[in-house]
Amino acid sequence: MSTEKRVFSGVQPTGNLHLGNYLGAITKFVALQDTYNCIYCVVDMHAITVWQDPAALRSSTREVTAAFIASGVDPKKHIIFNQSQVSAHAELAWILNCVARVGWLNRMTQFKDKAGKDRENASVGLYVYPVLMAADILAYRATHVPVGDDQKQHLELARDIAQKFNVDFAETISAEGFAEGFFPQPEPLISGPATRVMSLRDGRAKMSKSDPSDLSRINIADDAETIAKKIKKAKTDPEPLPSDKKGLEGRPEAENLAGIYAALSEQTLEAVLREFGGAQFSKFKNALIDLAVEKLGPIRAEMKRISADSAYIDGVLSDGAERASCIAGETMHHVRNIVGFVQAEKFAPKHAKLAARH
Ligand code: ATP
Ligand code: MG
Repeated sequence: MSTEKRVFSGVQPTGNLHLGNYLGAITKFVALQDTYNCIYCVVDMHAITVWQDPAALRSSTREVTAAFIASGVDPKKHIIFNQSQVSAHAELAWILNCVARVGWLNRMTQFKDKAGKDRENASVGLYVYPVLMAADILAYRATHVPVGDDQKQHLELARDIAQKFNVDFAETISAEGFAEGFFPQPEPLISGPATRVMSLRDGRAKMSKSDPSDLSRINIADDAETIAKKIKKAKTDPEPLPSDKKGLEGRPEAENLAGIYAALSEQTLEAVLREFGGAQFSKFKNALIDLAVEKLGPIRAEMKRISADSAYIDGVLSDGAERASCIAGETMHHVRNIVGFVQAEKFAPKHAKLAARH
């Protein structure tokens, strides 16, 4: 198996996709397509770590798929699928559960944030979520993972798990024909001015699908009027915008809005502050509204068009799942041998050929 460069990332179908998902993840997905083979996953198994209404889960899964395509991900050249259609994710997650240590998981801040005070009542799935995420990436032996800043800690855990697996099973990995370890160390790709878009209501909290306040986020599906209303209501401070980055210190809301403007206009934060330094928020917010509507409007329209054809979306997902299964199936065949599971030597050449095509 080659150790070619491969991109993997996922988005949960947990509700309304927002500007943070778009700027922190989806725009990166699009940009990476020219350089890498990319696999983009709608991670429905991650979603159910907190309660999801089944009908809402199904429609969110299709909506995230439509958002990927509407933003410019090409499902023919690359792979788009939903996680639950490829059983290797769950299978590898179990094996990696036996590699990861309880002490490692106890340090994960997302679990602490999401479980809140009532930790005893959180699902076991929410606790082992980062191990499933490691399995998602490693099932494809992916080398590069574009994510928002909030996923950095989980990526580090995935690297630790990959390394421990390589060390624990060094002997059988080498017998399986992999001289340099089996899993690569997946590299996080986190860059640009919007790796952590913050809530419009609180500059210290991440913009999230799961925030109960819809005013906290701009959804990709929001119309122009709603975007304008939310930006107008966004929390700010009484000072005008500063003309350099130093002036943003201790002003998280100003920093967030300027960062969003920079990312949407594909400029640096410095350039935005040079342009708007000294301006009142009312003026800056109007410019931001125009820019957000101009950038998100066409994606929203395209998403609506694609969403009307759920048979097409389901076809994209099942075709993607079939191609993803071939790649992950090859990984799992090796993993079973490496771990010492007895299996039939049935990895069909047909699968190998399909996997190689990607
Ligand atoms: P949830 O609240 O259900 O966890 P979420 O908004 O965090 O939803 P995810 O599906 O967990 O969305 O994350 C999908 C991708 O979007 C990940 O790469 C994540 O790092 C990125 N992302 C999420 N929120 C932000 C944000 N506020 N800014 C930048 N990137 C983000
Ligand atoms: Mg999240």
